[in-house]
Amino acid sequence: MGKALIVVDVQVDFCEGGALGVDGGNAVASDVASLLAGEHGYDAVVATRDHHIDPGSHFSATPDFVDTWPPHCVVGTPGQEIHPDLTGFGFDAVFDKGSYEAAYSGFEGTVGGSPDGEGLARWLGRRGITSVDVCGIATDFCVKATAADAAAEGFDTTVLAGLTAAVHNDSVENVEGSLTPLGITWQR
Ligand SMILES: [Zn+2]
Repeated sequence: MGKALIVVDVQVDFCEGGALGVDGGNAVASDVASLLAGEHGYDAVVATRDHHIDPGSHFSATPDFVDTWPPHCVVGTPGQEIHPDLTGFGFDAVFDKGSYEAAYSGFEGTVGGSPDGEGLARWLGRRGITSVDVCGIATDFCVKATAADAAAEGFDTTVLAGLTAAVHNDSVENVEGSLTPLGITWQR
């Protein structure tokens, strides 16, 4: 009956000043760091990372910020790193996704990012985790996809909405509206 926190894509490129910086990203990093510095009570804390080598049409010189994006989180660049506020925290595991194609959900990731690495659902299941809290960046893309997959995998799922930042702030209500029918709790 364990509970895990999934910290989605709190990476340098997704925070202010990054290649695909989202307003509020630095605040998410700082607030998650504060949560983890206290008695958080989670049985496991994991992170996901966008981890791009050659993700094809996920990158574009003329991005639409819906399906195509400026290059970001390229493996080997500083922008791909976890935000410095969180690098001192020892995540129990990090799941890398999107090496050669777009991957929004952390459940598409594996330890090490290779196809034969262990995936998030199996990793959590092996540790007896039955419920997950999801936070991170971006509310309307990778947090949304990760939460939806968590519920589909059978985890009791809560989005810690106050610990997320969105690409399109006006879409957050729609994200909430799409996730709550899946049985996901939306915690402000
Ligand atoms: Zn990406």
